[in-house]
Amino acid sequence: MVWPKLCYPINAMSTAGRRSADRPLTIVVHGGAWAIPDADVPDTTAGLKAATSAGYAILAAGGSALDAVEAAVRVLERLPVFDAGVGSVLNACEEVECDALIVDGNTLASGGVIGLNNVLHPVSVARRLMETTPHALIAGTGAREFASTVAATAGECCEEADLVTPAARAEWLQKRTFVGTVEAVFAGNEGDAGASGHDTVGAVALDCTGRLAAATSTGGITMKMRGRVGDSPLIGCGAFADSAVGAASATGHGESIMKCMLSARAAGAMAPSSPASVAYAGGTAAQGCAAGAVDHMLQRVGGFGGAIVVLPSGDAGAAHTTPRMAWGYATGTFAEGGPVVLSPSDEAVGVTLRGDGLSPLKWRW
Ligand code: ASP
Repeated sequence: MVWPKLCYPINAMSTAGRRSADRPLTIVVHGGAWAIPDADVPDTTAGLKAATSAGYAILAAGGSALDAVEAAVRVLERLPVFDAGVGSVLNACEEVECDALIVDGNTLASGGVIGLNNVLHPVSVARRLMETTPHALIAGTGAREFASTVAATAGECCEEADLVTPAARAEWLQKRTFVGTVEAVFAGNEGDAGASGHDTVGAVALDCTGRLAAATSTGGITMKMRGRVGDSPLIGCGAFADSAVGAASATGHGESIMKCMLSARAAGAMAPSSPASVAYAGGTAAQGCAAGAVDHMLQRVGGFGGAIVVLPSGDAGAAHTTPRMAWGYATGTFAEGGPVVLSPSDEAVGVTLRGDGLSPLKWRW
């Protein structure tokens, strides 16, 4: 495999805005990279299937990549097995602080929200910020006020207690420090029976006009300091999209992801730093991009994590240095004459194990 980046023959921007009969459609979704316990695999897989289907249905009907990633992430934000929206982990003060980001690959516009505890769908607040204000990132009291206003019209305001699950509470009681949590869930053993937690979600998509988009949503990491901000709401770190280059969403140890700007690196917006082709020979180009980025993060700063990638060609992939990663994808081709929802020609979801070559044939279901 060769690096597909930097000199990739892209003309996505020239076709953006119009439909084309032979346009590839792709959505890739993740539900976190960590030591996912065996007990969580069924619910995780079911959630990823639902999210992938929701996003792909929008793409197949001629909808936009932005709508697709928002829809996919909204599905995951409502499921308690994931650390986003309902199911968010608790900080050191036993509080919820949700972060989210959405990125438009055509305009490079982004919307990020920090520290929300009063809405069911932080990703939709992030999108509204991007589309209706001149700003790209909000935090604090203003962010919560804006979120309330946005969510009220959709009936999606909630109390903090509505976001807290028994599992999140139990994990908070079990984990004593932020560092201990990071070591247990990101670098721990495969399916460690002692590991508990849930993880960040994200999606990247390519629509029939050639537009790429990315979104990420998280409750962060258990026992984080009150006010701590991870990578997820930061452009280039938690997510990145450029329709001429690629799109990525990241998960893992946020402080490491920030140092390496993991999503921008995985999407191909930065020079590759490690020979992914060696570690993932036989994988897709997008897997090579993701692998190069997560390998770089491990080698350069010792950080564990994962990333999903879609390229303007529609090529989808993921890679992780954590024991496991939950992800899935659906690809197909847009047919002129819609709106007709087409089944994807290729799709899979599951939990991959570190070192299994990321072959869908080896996925656990
Ligand atoms: N990256 C997230 C954070 O550091 C956590 C995760 O992906 O699990 O907040």
